[in-house]
Amino acid sequence: MAEVPRSEGAPLLAVEELVVAYGPVRALHGVSLEVFPGEIVAVLGPNGAGKSTLLKAIAGAVAPAEGRILHAGRRIDGLPPEEVVRRGVALVPEGRMVFPRLTVRENLEVGAISRRDAGIGEDLERVLSMFPVLRERAGQLAGTLSGGEQQMLAIGRALMARPSLVLLDEPSLGLAPIVVHRVFELIARMRQDGVTVLLVEQNVHRALEVADRASVLAVGRVVLSGSGEELRRAEGRLERAYLGIGGRA
Ligand code: ATP
Repeated sequence: MAEVPRSEGAPLLAVEELVVAYGPVRALHGVSLEVFPGEIVAVLGPNGAGKSTLLKAIAGAVAPAEGRILHAGRRIDGLPPEEVVRRGVALVPEGRMVFPRLTVRENLEVGAISRRDAGIGEDLERVLSMFPVLRERAGQLAGTLSGGEQQMLAIGRALMARPSLVLLDEPSLGLAPIVVHRVFELIARMRQDGVTVLLVEQNVHRALEVADRASVLAVGRVVLSGSGEELRRAEGRLERAYLGIGGRA
């Protein structure tokens, strides 16, 4: 756990006044946040707050109506998802979304599809070392894996894009506590390996344990933000933020 939020230098990701609408319904009303290199930043908030929408907009899966998204100082808003991946931003979507009829190895290879460099074999080996269970099951169809194994595969597939930033949408959803523990260990390990993480989580307690900083969204707005430590100490304010009454931690 970093003591001081690393808010110095240039952010790896800057979201500025982002507005996203689904038809007439606005899901995000001017959301701003920054993620600095090497950080784990959590986005928390109740159901329907706009957390998945934020990640989808960053990943290019939904187009913002207003605002800007910059990765490493370059605008990525409006780019197609495959170009966002090529720039180094990989999304692990909610519900894992592995390809059930492809093998574990093929799923991982799909993660590298946007790459044209020669290091793919090496990265496959690195990911299989990180996830021994995936090595054991490399030839197995992904649809036959357990929920926890599919989550590992979804994370492994994102890492195959060799991203500088990974967007994780509810990685612990529906998993047994022991598997949740393993997923959070992996998130901490990703940071050690130099990957920056933006994490959407319902599991507030676990998210704040691992996060350097966090922002709380409620009905499409950031209502509370601070270091992981500050938000852990401000539990009461966090609860109120979940009810829609915000402030700074
Ligand atoms: P959850 O934790 O339930 O996934 P969330 O914080 O991720 O919630 P979003 O899924 O981003 O929230 O949804 C934000 C708002 O946008 C909600 O009111 C939701 O109903 C709406 N919304 C999301 N996706 C769509 C869509 N494809 N079409 C229309 N409205 C949508």
